[in-house]
Amino acid sequence: MTIFLELKRRVNYILKDWVKFYTKEAIKTLKLITIGSTIVIAVVCIKYKPAYKVTISGETIGYIDNLERIERKIENYIKDTSGNIAFKEIESLPEYHLELIDRDKETRDKNIMLAIEERTTTTYKTYAVTSAGENKTVVESKEEAENIINEVKSDLKPEVDLQLGIVEVYSTELNVNSQEDATKALTELKIAKVNEYETKKAEEEKALAIEKARKAKLSLEQSIASTTKVAATGNLNGMALSIPVTGSISSRFGSRSSSRSSLHTGLDISTALGTGVRPISAGTVTYAGYKGTYGNLVIIDHGNGVESYYAHCNALYVSQGQTVDTGTTIAAVGSTGNSTGPHLHLEIRIGGTPVNPQNYLY
Ligand SMILES: [Zn+2]
Repeated sequence: MTIFLELKRRVNYILKDWVKFYTKEAIKTLKLITIGSTIVIAVVCIKYKPAYKVTISGETIGYIDNLERIERKIENYIKDTSGNIAFKEIESLPEYHLELIDRDKETRDKNIMLAIEERTTTTYKTYAVTSAGENKTVVESKEEAENIINEVKSDLKPEVDLQLGIVEVYSTELNVNSQEDATKALTELKIAKVNEYETKKAEEEKALAIEKARKAKLSLEQSIASTTKVAATGNLNGMALSIPVTGSISSRFGSRSSSRSSLHTGLDISTALGTGVRPISAGTVTYAGYKGTYGNLVIIDHGNGVESYYAHCNALYVSQGQTVDTGTTIAAVGSTGNSTGPHLHLEIRIGGTPVNPQNYLY
């Protein structure tokens, strides 16, 4: 019994020692693991750091250490529509991946923002001043556009309509003119339009004047034609008259010229020297000969107190007392007496008083 007890005691002792031994070993191992892990973590912490890799459409654009901050910055950047910015569009939003990265690697927000800006399309809103629907100049604000229009219109004739308007212009490039340049552009347009208007007006006035002159000429021609027509059937107190010579009228009855001291008592008809002269109507020759300023003169009495004179003749073919009719050639045109060139001076007298032959002839 005692032996058994003694054995039990010994075994217990051995077991205790064995447990003790292995417990010691386990603690030792645990210590080693802990130390090892600590070293590994320390090394990792020295060499690496946690950070967010930022990618856009799969492309890495950089690393950041604060997600909230970068998201706020991006939001503010997109929301910023100061100046002429209408809106911004990023081709694709960034994605974030938490990673351990080399401690030396930069984690700068600025790099991310630059990459975002590069991938952003900014649309600008500006204002164009239009003329007849065509953009003439682009300025930053509506007020500027209105000021320019008011300035250009201030001294503009109401007849010249530049058809000015303002339209909003959206563009991905900000191209605006200074107010000074814009005003200049519109002023040039105004000058061109005013010139166009003035030219058109002048042309219209000219066309009007030409038309007026044409009408006046036509009316004159019509009156001459009607006068000529009277000549063909001309009559004086029922007496039929015909023209003594054809030619151009060089001086009218009643006119005054430097070569005459008194009013012209007849009608001068210019024609070639030697042209035959016929009486205006049938009658009797009461004079055929030279008479002072008349030169060679034929006077015919037509009865009823009507007489006709044919002066400055070159030759006389009739004599006093001879009866003649409109078929008789009584003389030839000349330039005798007070005359400066071949012409017939035709004088018609009623009761001895010269009357205007053009009341009856030519
Ligand atoms: Zn005359």
